[in-house]
Amino acid sequence: MLAAGIDIGSTAAKAVILENETIRGYAIIPTGGESVETAKKVMELTAQNAAVSINDIHCIVSTGYGRVLVPFADKNVTEISCHAKGAVYTFPNVRTILDVGGQDCKVICCNDRGAIDDFVLNEKCAAGTGRFLEQCARTLNVSVQEMGELSLNIKNDAPIINSVCVLFAKSEILQLLRDGVERCDIIAGILDALVERIYSLICKKGCRAEFMMTGGVAKNIGIVKRLEERVGMKVHLASEPQLMGALGAALYAKELYERKKM
Ligand code: ADP
Repeated sequence: MLAAGIDIGSTAAKAVILENETIRGYAIIPTGGESVETAKKVMELTAQNAAVSINDIHCIVSTGYGRVLVPFADKNVTEISCHAKGAVYTFPNVRTILDVGGQDCKVICCNDRGAIDDFVLNEKCAAGTGRFLEQCARTLNVSVQEMGELSLNIKNDAPIINSVCVLFAKSEILQLLRDGVERCDIIAGILDALVERIYSLICKKGCRAEFMMTGGVAKNIGIVKRLEERVGMKVHLASEPQLMGALGAALYAKELYERKKM
């Protein structure tokens, strides 16, 4: 039985094909301006990676900010539900899930059975999201992928970045560069500021063990290490944290197909 989940995020489109319980293939591509085209493209690429034909997929569930724009989906499900589903499937004892994506940041709390209890969301501005890191990376002329490692190589104390607002942080960064502060020290200061922002969101709901981080920003080792220190707990990570929403959607698709069949 083949089931697929497709997550059209603000920054990246992700898809997963499950064969029974096993991930058979996946793909991650940037979300273009055209959500319908992006959805088709990521699904085709995933089918190719899984070596299956799209016509052989029994059920497809979409999620993410563009979830209603996937014409070939059998159903759409919210990101909160899909992230929790993918996370608890990957680590059954997880009770707090932090998802940091391109344009929002959310904390999902689960009960003893792993079902969603509560959640809190920050989606008002880029502060505390991947977009903030992308803008800072551009100002510093480094890639977002290398920021995590660079932040662990600090030469001096990290400067305090007072603002997680993209515009104010940019002028603070430019001033630090003019003052001759090392790039990796500045990056460390940026990640410290972002983690403080994320931590204040976590504190709104409390953090029950076990703790997991999902979303593209979970690939930033500098953020993960700082969070572990701040929260005082191990951060569980999937081998591909950015796929958790699409995996959850694929699990919903599998359940939907099995229910319909009955
Ligand atoms: P969305 O669902 O909102 O599109 P994602 O969960 O796909 O968001 O995450 C996108 C964010 O992840 C981007 O803003 C980017 O900065 C970050 N990201 C993606 N890949 C990496 C990586 N290899 N290292 C660090 N950050 C990454």
